[in-house]
Amino acid sequence: MKVLVAVKRVIDFNVKIRVKSDGTGVETGNVKMSMNPFDEIAVEEGVRLREAGTADELIAVSMGEAACQETIRTALAMGADRGILVETDPGLEPLAAAKLLAAIADKESPDLIIVGKQAIDNDCNQTGQMLATLLGWPQGTFASNLTLKDGKAEVTREVDGGLENVALTLPAVVTTDLRLNEPRYASLPNIMKAKKKPIDTMTPDDLGVDVTPRLTTLKVEDPTGRQAGVIVETAAELVEKLKNEAKVI
Ligand code: AMP
Repeated sequence: MKVLVAVKRVIDFNVKIRVKSDGTGVETGNVKMSMNPFDEIAVEEGVRLREAGTADELIAVSMGEAACQETIRTALAMGADRGILVETDPGLEPLAAAKLLAAIADKESPDLIIVGKQAIDNDCNQTGQMLATLLGWPQGTFASNLTLKDGKAEVTREVDGGLENVALTLPAVVTTDLRLNEPRYASLPNIMKAKKKPIDTMTPDDLGVDVTPRLTTLKVEDPTGRQAGVIVETAAELVEKLKNEAKVI
């Protein structure tokens, strides 16, 4: 069984985002970049399937600038077998990412594709759903548990009202939620070994996909700053402020 995971290179979640002075986007120069956290969970899930012998090949795919190689190397160090880099301009939109992944799925015929539920740079939460639709495959989104048996994927989904269990016939697309697993850190020997694992590089043209953006960013700006809080001495003072200043009671 073949498993494909998508790994996006994003600004590290610990970095304080700075908006560019001309309002065209956010600063990425000299900023720490990492694998999207939900994609680390996707890789971990794939590696566990690989270790359990349920999967016999795990492929990590990243799409974007050449530096996405580093993100693929991280996935390889975690335990993926090989990588695919689709080299293109940064800022790929979810539909284009989904089309590229669908084209790769046509070539590779994986049984399962695991992607993050959302990329933390654009918060779109669209790629997995679009990918499943393009391929005509079933999808289990926001997975907090995944079990594969008898050609089916059983997925526990984190939905508003609680947990929903669905069974999907493979091949299928699963998107990861936070509670699915805790990703491992790559060990130094595995980081060294990952340097020798193969990465195929291709372009959207090679895959016959048009990735021309369909959206225009009008302006990016910082959220308005919050006023500093005040510490009150007594409950009576709090009530007075809520009544007369905030006018909420
Ligand atoms: P999004 O729909 O943009 O929130 O992204 C959801 C998921 O799709 C991410 O967590 C990744 O697994 C995958 N994905 C989206 N864009 C890319 C990309 N450029 N490279 C690799 N994976 C991607």
